[in-house]
Amino acid sequence: MKIFYNGSIITMNKQVETALAVGVDNGRIVELFNRQPDMAAEYIDLQGKWLLPGFIDTHTHSNSGGLYSMGVNLEHCQNLNELYERLRAGKLMGEMLIAWHLDEKELKEKRFPTAAELDKIFPEKAVLIRRVDGHSCVINSCAAGQIEAIQPLDSSFNGTFRRRANDQIVNWFHRSIDEEHILKSYDNAARHAIKYGHTSIHTMVGDGHESIEHYKLLQANMARYPIEFIPYAQCFNIDAAIEAGAPRLGGCILADGSFGSHTAALFESYADQPDNYGVLYHNDAFWEQIITRAHACDLQVAVHCIGDKAISQILKYYEKVQKENPKDLRHILIHNELTSDEMIRRMGDSNIVAAMQPMFDRLWAGEDGLYETVLGKERTLRTTRLRSLRDAGVIIGGGSDWYVTEMDALAGIDAAVRLHNPEERLTPYEAVQLYTSHAAWLSHDEHRLGQIAVGYQADFVVLEENPLEADDIAGINIIDVFKKGECKS
Ligand SMILES: [Zn+2]
Ligand SMILES: [Zn+2]
Repeated sequence: MKIFYNGSIITMNKQVETALAVGVDNGRIVELFNRQPDMAAEYIDLQGKWLLPGFIDTHTHSNSGGLYSMGVNLEHCQNLNELYERLRAGKLMGEMLIAWHLDEKELKEKRFPTAAELDKIFPEKAVLIRRVDGHSCVINSCAAGQIEAIQPLDSSFNGTFRRRANDQIVNWFHRSIDEEHILKSYDNAARHAIKYGHTSIHTMVGDGHESIEHYKLLQANMARYPIEFIPYAQCFNIDAAIEAGAPRLGGCILADGSFGSHTAALFESYADQPDNYGVLYHNDAFWEQIITRAHACDLQVAVHCIGDKAISQILKYYEKVQKENPKDLRHILIHNELTSDEMIRRMGDSNIVAAMQPMFDRLWAGEDGLYETVLGKERTLRTTRLRSLRDAGVIIGGGSDWYVTEMDALAGIDAAVRLHNPEERLTPYEAVQLYTSHAAWLSHDEHRLGQIAVGYQADFVVLEENPLEADDIAGINIIDVFKKGECKS
């Protein structure tokens, strides 16, 4: 047995809130001690630090994030010249170059680069630049010529794409990457996860179309990674998903786009574009068919929905299948950003759950921030409604949407405690639940993960300070990470 002692233990378990020491055997928690144990064992000295269940991120694009950490990061780029310099210095992945995290609004020129400009630097290699929110991209002519889905090219082609073409382009790049780079991307993601105290992360796998091959590849290689990936089959082929043994379907399969790209679907138009209501990517019949069939086949469903109109569209069918044939599948609204009181009440009534990103609020919901610009003040107050959802009984898992924001659970906890709208803030304990016990609920792992209790997996993070009392939660140092009782950091 291993015994973790001499620290403060926050169990996130309501029955036994704390303990003096934790006994672990064979990767599981076998005993919580309320007095100092003196038996023969391997003792692990926590040196007065804080032991919590390892964090769980309920929404990452590990493959994209892992790949992009091998590509070019355009974060905080100031102007187009600097952008070109960074691209020139970037490392090619085979015959292509991938860059991400571009916020064109931060550039002096306030615009995306054009294909013609990229062609001058990269006449023969395919280049993809993704916007920070992933809902717009820029490609060069070499790439455009190879991607069948976007042919014939419009005469107004300038390299920038949104909506479904954006999706199709990104999928083409991802499909063109070899297995070795795919597996390596998950190595990068796992390393990254551990750095920020995670022991499990939910990950979106596949391109949202028919193929299940990428999912199978990850399944077959799961054991090589130091953390646990909880995979989502992003695939519209339900039979293939079932055959691969997937318990859930979807992920960031899109009901709509994003606020930053003005493609999130809204009931009332954008504050800065009075004729624009965003866009529903699929009609009702499409979602009804997918959700009904998946529900009948006992698959949990997850769909990306940001605007109130898109959330309503998905909610309507989640409600319908739950009413007709109630099951404990916990269908997931991913992002679930702009909601009304009435929608929240219906979510609570139909037993669905949400995977949300408190960091979106931190980054974009502030005074004169992106959300106020595109939604106005009143609607911005109706985004990221953690308190209202919780009070309505909706279980929420916290996540980063990594690569979109940093895969940093403490930053997410901090953001949830200090949301811009004081009425929607959580207590530190509730915010930690988003990344531990409640996160485990989303994948039906609440009896196995997310708490320090007898019978649970020995997944721990050791923190320098108490996150329930610290002033600067985001700044707390991660000391150690243990997966199944083994140190991984
Ligand atoms: Zn999404
Ligand atoms: Zn996502």
